[in-house]
Amino acid sequence: MAKITAHLAKNKKILFAASEAHPLIKTGGLGDVAGALPAALHDLRQDVRLILPAYRDAMRDIGDLKVASLRMQDDPYPLRLLEGKLPGSGVPVWLVDSPLHFDRAGNPYLGADGRDWPDNADRYAIFARAVRAVALNQMGLAWQPDVVHCNDWQTGLVPALLSLAPTRPASVFTIHNLAYQGVVAATDYRRLGLPAEVWSVEGLEFYGQASYIKGGLAYADMLNTVSPTYAEEIRTPAFGCQLEGLLQRRTDRLVGILNGADYREWDPEHDRHLPHHYSAASLQGKAANKTALQREVGLPRAPEVPLIGLVGRLVEQKGVDLVLAILPALLQQPVQVVILGSGDPAFEKALTILAGHYPQHCQVKIGFDEGLAHRIEAGADLFLMPSRYEPCGLNQIYSLRYGTLPVVRRTGGLADTVTDWSEGLARATGFVFDAATPPALLEVVLRALQHYRDDPVGWRRVVGNAMARDYSWRRSAEAYLDLYQQAIARAGAGKP
Ligand code: ADP
Repeated sequence: MAKITAHLAKNKKILFAASEAHPLIKTGGLGDVAGALPAALHDLRQDVRLILPAYRDAMRDIGDLKVASLRMQDDPYPLRLLEGKLPGSGVPVWLVDSPLHFDRAGNPYLGADGRDWPDNADRYAIFARAVRAVALNQMGLAWQPDVVHCNDWQTGLVPALLSLAPTRPASVFTIHNLAYQGVVAATDYRRLGLPAEVWSVEGLEFYGQASYIKGGLAYADMLNTVSPTYAEEIRTPAFGCQLEGLLQRRTDRLVGILNGADYREWDPEHDRHLPHHYSAASLQGKAANKTALQREVGLPRAPEVPLIGLVGRLVEQKGVDLVLAILPALLQQPVQVVILGSGDPAFEKALTILAGHYPQHCQVKIGFDEGLAHRIEAGADLFLMPSRYEPCGLNQIYSLRYGTLPVVRRTGGLADTVTDWSEGLARATGFVFDAATPPALLEVVLRALQHYRDDPVGWRRVVGNAMARDYSWRRSAEAYLDLYQQAIARAGAGKP
């Protein structure tokens, strides 16, 4: 309590820069975090403001907007800053409006062909310059942050640009996924007029190209990633994506802070996407959600058959190839599987074809469907997350709250949040396996199915343990306040 009081007394001005934030625009966990963490900081009475690109979808969903600032002095493009509120919270939002770059339909990073937008180098350079200008109070907003919190490669240029300012706020950079780096051609870097001072091996250069994420990794006053285990892993060659050397050099500035879950959105007691609400004390609603889910996705009604869910990006990171490899054997069991996702077209196609062979047992829905994601969390008995690496992972945290036991690989945030059945019924919350191989995955799923079938009392107990786990954002938000304090102290002590 004393700690919280200290934070409240020291109200901070925080500029939170991200390329997506739920409910305005979301492609994955970053969107969940950028929607929930600013709201949690706001609840801790911090003066936090969110800044995002003015994508068409975000403009449509935000509601009332006013023009806060008209253009930037040092940018060749006309640019407006629009001001609104993050729906569902009181957090002020600034949208960086450059229609040429952001007023387009669809995914923020990818065109309809599934490839990166060809002008991503320009789009996130323009965004970073706007964030820098707001951070330095050069947009006529009469507000200057104490700390700028940047997230992933799309905002990586911001700490690098700020490092060149004679006086500046502190900067924090959060790694949500190190594998996505925003590497652009050196010619783009020069064409965009980005500063030569930060072009070096210690700076933005990456094997002759420019790496936007390195701007964050090399120049932020403090770094963090979204789980303690991933913070360790990324310092090794196996997970460091060729950036482990830099991360080792900055190891005294790198910490792990586990993401929270936004229980305003993800709680089976009041989830607006569910036909039936339930709690640990009364699980009938979960059974009713299972029946409803079977009907919704086109599986036979079968209360006693274990239902396995998977929601996520269909990419190698998530172990989709492992799932594909075990499905033919798994579907010989009395089991149902429902998969929702989009991503690599080859995985989308292979899963769809495979499911077509087992319509009574397996349904695959390709696309992004927020409501169905919630209903799978609620209606399934087991949730599959065999990721090769996982910075934090939110779906397994949601699964815990929904009493849907997660089956996860022991890596990153999955290792930090799920306790294997073998650790005893007093502690267990799910199933954990080690090797990223089809036999290891099949073995753990069969083990889970055996417990489901043979030990309903033990199952109920483990479901109770899972649902009692508390990953609310408040604790993580307090850890971020400590991180901001450290960044401010470091920034005051000189350049990073
Ligand atoms: P990542 O950020 O690596 O994609 P996370 O588990 O951290 O993975 O977060 C994924 C978030 O995105 C969750 O809220 C999940 O429900 C959501 N999500 C992923 N794919 C889909 C989809 N196809 N439809 C709806 N929601 C999805």
